[in-house]
Amino acid sequence: MSDKRVLIWYRNDLRVHDHEPLHLAVKAQAEIIPVYCFDPRQFGKTSFGFPKTGVFRAQFLLESVTDLRNSLRKLGSDLIVRYDFPEVVIPEIVKQLEIDEVYYYREVTSEELAVETALKKALKPLDVALKSYWGATLYDIDDLPFAANQLPEVFTQFRKQVEKNGTIYASFPTPQRLPSLPKIELGELPTLQELGLETPPFDQRSVLKFQGGETAGIARLTDYIWEQDCLKDYKQTRNGMLGANYSSKFSPWLALGCLSPRFIYDQVQDYEEQRVKNDSTYWLVFELLWRDYFRFICLKHGNKIFRLSGLQGVPIPWKEDWERFEKWRTGTTGFPLVDANMRELAATGFMSNRGRQNVASFLTKNLGINWKMGAEWFESLLVDYDVCSNWGNWNYTAGVGNDARGFRYFNIPKQAKDYDSNGDYVKHWLPELAALPASKVHEPWMLQPVEQKRFGVQLGVDYPNPVVDLMKSVQSNKKSYEAALSKAKRF
Ligand SMILES: Cc1cc2nc3c(=O)[nH]c(=O)nc-3n(C[C@H](O)[C@H](O)[C@H](O)COP(=O)(O)OP(=O)(O)OC[C@H]3O[C@@H](n4cnc5c(N)ncnc54)[C@H](O)[C@@H]3O)c2cc1C
Repeated sequence: MSDKRVLIWYRNDLRVHDHEPLHLAVKAQAEIIPVYCFDPRQFGKTSFGFPKTGVFRAQFLLESVTDLRNSLRKLGSDLIVRYDFPEVVIPEIVKQLEIDEVYYYREVTSEELAVETALKKALKPLDVALKSYWGATLYDIDDLPFAANQLPEVFTQFRKQVEKNGTIYASFPTPQRLPSLPKIELGELPTLQELGLETPPFDQRSVLKFQGGETAGIARLTDYIWEQDCLKDYKQTRNGMLGANYSSKFSPWLALGCLSPRFIYDQVQDYEEQRVKNDSTYWLVFELLWRDYFRFICLKHGNKIFRLSGLQGVPIPWKEDWERFEKWRTGTTGFPLVDANMRELAATGFMSNRGRQNVASFLTKNLGINWKMGAEWFESLLVDYDVCSNWGNWNYTAGVGNDARGFRYFNIPKQAKDYDSNGDYVKHWLPELAALPASKVHEPWMLQPVEQKRFGVQLGVDYPNPVVDLMKSVQSNKKSYEAALSKAKRF
């Protein structure tokens, strides 16, 4: 072992596989000091007053940090855990243990960058080298076929260029053994209660019991790809909403870095060699490229992703109608597809991609409500919350993203019939509609009084009347959008 001491600052990279800083520290035969800080700022409130890290995400995070600590212990090391600001904790440990270098994966969005800046400042007087690495994406920033500030604005162009001229490198090897830690207080993880949260009850209707951590993430991947053999049909099933296997459900583990996208890519390649290579195996990688794209977009455009007028700067006069927002949030809009999805989110912290697109379209294109209220609600609730994917997708669906192409909206009843033709999904989450036949379940507002009686659902009592007229609301929001777009300065 060399006499170099390296502190690894763990953030959204809670794993030991495919971890470049860890790999490099092992290669340098350094003494390795892994540290994780629960940052109190992440447990405050969002600007609209929602818990910033809600219960589902907080629980998943606690499980993920516990699992990382266990993995490090198995390798002979451990994880130092603190509940404090990284810019306070890390300099203290640097001094206490005479650290030579600090390694971390860099982030791209404002809150995370502010912590990095504060840390750099706090470490400046100390004789310590700070090294940041790019991670979290399939394509490394240095292997893009264009400079990050030249990133194409349109996803398809980005995808075509990286597919043609980019390279995805193999994962870094997992260390076999790590040096033990010097004497130091290891620290305990906070409990949910200490973070000001209650343990969420597990809802049996959930698509999956999401267990945080690299171990559970790899187990999910193994189950989905290899044991259940679902990858070969992914493209056909991915738009589903009910059950564990219509899509991969890798997103929570990706969000905290418990799974690395390159590791998933390696597995897809093995699957293609050993079982089958088809449009579904390609499509999983295609979807991971969306994730890459939003991260690079955030890098390129900085804080514009959080502006009300979005990346494109469209000054839409959004409403802050809390009464209607409450109906959206609690799943009581009178539109079963929207309500079922919003109740699933509230009960489990998860929602399918199809659901997310529909509820986001409904909030912005039908209700005309400030999209940032929706984005913050998702930030609070989603077990897979990822700052770039969430705010990027909301920009996109609200029609203010860089890639926005006119006023696009989802026709909710049509979507419901296309993706939930038997009504199984809405009945799963809206038991009050269980007796309705499939032909009527997506449009309960059409029920005659005699039908309401027959199916045991009285509109306005057992299930709400629609909060808006679908077509009229779309027309009126389209007008505002188009007026705003003509004002918008193109970049
Ligand atoms: C309004 C809105 C908000 C969203 N917020 C988030 C978020 O906070 N975190 C998040 O991970 N995803 C977000 N998504 C993207 C997408 O809905 C989820 O990634 C997906 O539903 C997760 O389920 P899965 O892992 O089974 O996906 P799969 O269909 O199995 O896809 C595999 C992986 O590809 C990536 N991916 C797929 N679709 C997208 C997409 N549209 N954008 C970015 N990455 C994608 C994810 O990492 C996903 O795990 C959002 C989408 C919308 C419309």
